[in-house]
Amino acid sequence: MEPSERAALRAVADRLRELSEGRIPEPLAAAGGDAGLHDLASRVNQIIEQHAEVLAFVRPLSQGVLSVSAPPARNFLASPFKELHSRLTHLTWQAERVAQGDYSQRVDFMGDFSRAFNFMVESLERKELQLREKIGELEALNRQKNEFVGVAAHDLRSPLAVIEMYSAFLLGEPAAALKEKEREFLRIIALQSRFMLNLINDLLDVTRIESGNLDLRPQEGDFLAFARRVAGLQALLAERRGIAVTVEDGDAPCAAVFDPPRMEQVLNNLIGNAVKFSGDGTRVTVRVECAAGCVRVSVADQGPGIPAGELRTIFKEFHRGTAQPAPGERSTGLGLAIARRIVEAHGGTIGVESEVGKGSTFFFTLPAVPGERTCPGGD
Ligand code: ADP
Repeated sequence: MEPSERAALRAVADRLRELSEGRIPEPLAAAGGDAGLHDLASRVNQIIEQHAEVLAFVRPLSQGVLSVSAPPARNFLASPFKELHSRLTHLTWQAERVAQGDYSQRVDFMGDFSRAFNFMVESLERKELQLREKIGELEALNRQKNEFVGVAAHDLRSPLAVIEMYSAFLLGEPAAALKEKEREFLRIIALQSRFMLNLINDLLDVTRIESGNLDLRPQEGDFLAFARRVAGLQALLAERRGIAVTVEDGDAPCAAVFDPPRMEQVLNNLIGNAVKFSGDGTRVTVRVECAAGCVRVSVADQGPGIPAGELRTIFKEFHRGTAQPAPGERSTGLGLAIARRIVEAHGGTIGVESEVGKGSTFFFTLPAVPGERTCPGGD
């Protein structure tokens, strides 16, 4: 054997040793001369190349990277890994389908894993069914509760209105020979029955809204003039405590389509709260901004502010926060929940920004055309 042939054979042996030790050797240089040696070198190079391709595929795959591209079809060493890759890819797709609620997916490979996966899908399907049944039962119970509260509140309203009316009548009657003590008791009766009437009206609103019977009667109008009128009435009430309620705006009218009595309820609640929770002598500023297709209204006060932890629940029914109402005022925790439902029924959104000690700004948007998502950030 020629020395050059011996060197070529040693190089082949070196490459095979490296391969058997799990390394990827450099390919062999083209061997000249003997045709048999030339063929041997090119086959060893082929094995080296296929090994490198398999490793580049399997390493990321073993770390869960399914997006890695598979070696070319001619690489027979890679075929079992390619099979595994395509099954794992399919499994991922199946898991995504299950997450979207398609419980017909079943896995039929990897023994124990298949059993566990299929069992998980079956029990998820059972649980979802049970959950749906429970939701149905709860919805029926909630409807019953709403009907009951609705009927009870409705029946309580008339006698209460009579009590309030008669006590107001007696108080306004100068000829009534009432002692001062009796007058004071009557005033308390009138005040308490007014409070109860308001509470009952709020409860009726909540049940009506919850059962989807909030009947909006939208009409076209100038929201700016409307807000000025409502704020004007609130300003008269606030004057008693030296609180100034002002409306800041541009001068142009602000066309919008809205249900006036319902929107009045929203504005009354926001301005009323701003006054109710603020100290005497402070200022409440109502702002009406009229942009293309969207009205944005904000009510800013100089009150106590709202702690960050309360901001998430403030628009939920019966939420009563740490802020204390002014003496003589009551808090039921229903006003903001009703305001939110009314604004949302108009296609708008409601929110609040607040910092303890610096006051609060409640705001809501109102699409110029109800139901059209024309306000930025409204989803
Ligand atoms: P109510 O006014 O009857 O309590 P709301 O739903 O209108 O019901 O308000 C819920 C709670 O949110 C209030 O009890 C109060 O803690 C807080 N809150 C509302 N508006 C303000 C405000 N402008 N400043 C501080 N706290 C407020």
